[in-house]
Amino acid sequence: MTVVQKYGGTSVGSIERLQAVAARIAHRAAQGRPMAVVVSAMGKTTDELVALAGAVSARPPRREMDMLLATGEIVSSALLAMAVRELGHGAVALTGAQAGVFTDDTFGRARIRGIDTERIQREFAAGNVVIIAGFQGASGEADFTTLGRGGSDTSAVALGAALHAQQVEIYTDVEGIYTTDPRIEPDARRLADIAAEEMLEAAAQGAGVMHPRAVELGLLYDIPIVVASSFAADGAAGTVIRKEVLMEPEDRVRTIALDRDVASLTLRQVPDRPGIAAQLFGPLADAGISVDTIVQNAGEDRLTDLTFTVSHADLEQAREVAAPLARELGAAELLHDHDLVKVSLIGTGMQSAPGYAALMFRTLSDADINIELITTSEIRITVLLRSEQGEQAVQLLHRAFALDQPVST
Ligand code: ADP
Ligand code: ASP
Ligand code: MG
Repeated sequence: MTVVQKYGGTSVGSIERLQAVAARIAHRAAQGRPMAVVVSAMGKTTDELVALAGAVSARPPRREMDMLLATGEIVSSALLAMAVRELGHGAVALTGAQAGVFTDDTFGRARIRGIDTERIQREFAAGNVVIIAGFQGASGEADFTTLGRGGSDTSAVALGAALHAQQVEIYTDVEGIYTTDPRIEPDARRLADIAAEEMLEAAAQGAGVMHPRAVELGLLYDIPIVVASSFAADGAAGTVIRKEVLMEPEDRVRTIALDRDVASLTLRQVPDRPGIAAQLFGPLADAGISVDTIVQNAGEDRLTDLTFTVSHADLEQAREVAAPLARELGAAELLHDHDLVKVSLIGTGMQSAPGYAALMFRTLSDADINIELITTSEIRITVLLRSEQGEQAVQLLHRAFALDQPVST
């Protein structure tokens, strides 16, 4: 069975770290199973490349941006392969294209269309560990594409599926998936396992520890994902993300996610008539802007307020698209706000237990934290708050829902 591992940016953030990871790889490879390793760019390299582009252009062309960003993972994969060879084990570094990762041409958020594993298999046959540059692929024109920030996780799970691996091992700078980001709440606890549906919801709601599309792929191909620390001893316990195995899921908040990448737009006092939403959200979708939460307040005198949220990166463009539409629709004004965060409670069975929402709202109101907006799904309750109150809200809710306590069984 093929071993598929992924090491994140912090895990290879320095030459020392890179060598430590190489030692883990060489040790595992010595056990004789074919091994593919996906690697992220070293440390903050991707952020630095983004800043470089920003210094040259206010709106860098997406194709060139992807070409630039792809270099980060090319550097780390080449260095890692060298470091593994220094330890006496065969290793070869491959770009996304060389590894057969083919995507569509949506630069900046390309989707993987397929993986041709022929080259990887040949390298396995030659006794090489294959080190693959994560986060990148090649379009039909052989252009570099990238999968979106944090996308190396998705590269790894996609390769796991293509290579029929039994599981995918994601090594990062924390010991697994916690009840909330342990950097926000020191009493957060590591979960031994989490249902893929819950993890998908958490990842989509800003728990940056996993790329949402990686979790989606794991679910689709039924591949368990093991998240563990690259800093801990090899084989140390982590978290397994897998399809729910319990017959009757327990009702419990499993994790709290904080999303800092939230901006809102509000059309104030729009005349309330059918078709408004269609007129607004059609053009936003056509511009490639993904709209998250949408709330329409029933107003007075047949006037209504319409609020929706987008990511910070999309705010300017969303304003450009929405401004003429707001005038056309007869809105009094178009407001925007980028000082917002989303806090989400995630767990199965929450919808059938109204007590969760009540406790969440009471906890926040007791601390004078104002809720700007509320949305729910079957396994999630989300509130929109002022950014400066986000971390405090997470800490208070973590305690209120006893997530710092071991689960009694
Ligand atoms: P990598 O570079 O290895 O991909 P990331 O920075 O993308 O690592 O993800 C790891 C980080 O995710 C952790 O350092 C932690 O701060 C953050 N994080 C957010 N939510 C959680 C959570 N529920 N459990 C663990 N880590 C979390
Ligand atoms: N290097 C890319 C990023 O920083 C991809 C990744 O690390 O997963 O977003
Ligand atoms: Mg990551």
